[in-house]
Amino acid sequence: KGESVPIECLDQLSIKSFPLCMRSCHEILRSKHHLKHFGRLQYTLFLKGIGVLLEDALRFFREEFTKTMDLERFEKGYAYNIRHSYGKEGSMVKYSPFSCMKIIMQAVGPQDTHGCPFKTLDPVALKSKLTSYGLSPMHVQEVATFATKGHYQLACDRYFEVIHDTKLDQGIQHPNQYFELSQAVMG
Ligand code: SF4
Repeated sequence: KGESVPIECLDQLSIKSFPLCMRSCHEILRSKHHLKHFGRLQYTLFLKGIGVLLEDALRFFREEFTKTMDLERFEKGYAYNIRHSYGKEGSMVKYSPFSCMKIIMQAVGPQDTHGCPFKTLDPVALKSKLTSYGLSPMHVQEVATFATKGHYQLACDRYFEVIHDTKLDQGIQHPNQYFELSQAVMG
């Protein structure tokens, strides 16, 4: 903790140590070269929380966004928001990364990319995502059962345990807590 995280590590970290909500944001940004407003906010604040420096976050989003738009549009329309999330623009308020409760309670439309996937994905889409992440059919079923019963954070706990092949002694309350616990397990 306290060290900055280079953006070159984000692809690998997203697989090993990001919770599903942030791994989804990362994948969408990489594949679509865009993230809608609330997804960007959710993901930017998470990245700030894990130790990505502002200038690196700007470069990361710029490199993706400018695959589909010109630099000027990015600088005018998006760079400000990213600096704002880091507390470097506007009111200079320090924004905290969102907790699970905040992410789970957010309204999410069909085209939106933010929120908690254990809540926002329908069971078929959730199961296919978990399968594509390498979970066995039994583990997919276990995690999805929690999610369909509305126990999103228990689904996240179980997902963590399966991915890390370990037992959690505390519940996941925050995506950044998930990341830190993961990094501790991964050594
Ligand atoms: Fe993210 Fe929390 Fe949902 Fe897990 S329970 S996917 S950390 S919002």
